[in-house]
Amino acid sequence: MTTHEELKNEVLTLAEEVGVKPNAIHIRAMKRKWASCSSKGRLSFNEILLDEPKEVRYKIILHELLHLKYPNHSKMFKLLLDYYLQKVL
Ligand SMILES: [Zn+2]
Repeated sequence: MTTHEELKNEVLTLAEEVGVKPNAIHIRAMKRKWASCSSKGRLSFNEILLDEPKEVRYKIILHELLHLKYPNHSKMFKLLLDYYLQKVL
């Protein structure tokens, strides 16, 4: 199992890769979602991610980080998500 500290470090490392700076990173219990991104650039990750394999964690983390640049799920968003995922895994 991944610790809170390790997950935060993964978020920071991937943020550097994508070239964004989250204002805050929270890891907490969430009811329905894997993660969320506030309009102020605060990222929250569901703590159940700590039990998921790296591929799943990275996909969710990159998804939220890319929302700091692109607030939607456009074609460009999906292309970039695939691009970074292949680059870092
Ligand atoms: Zn999204």
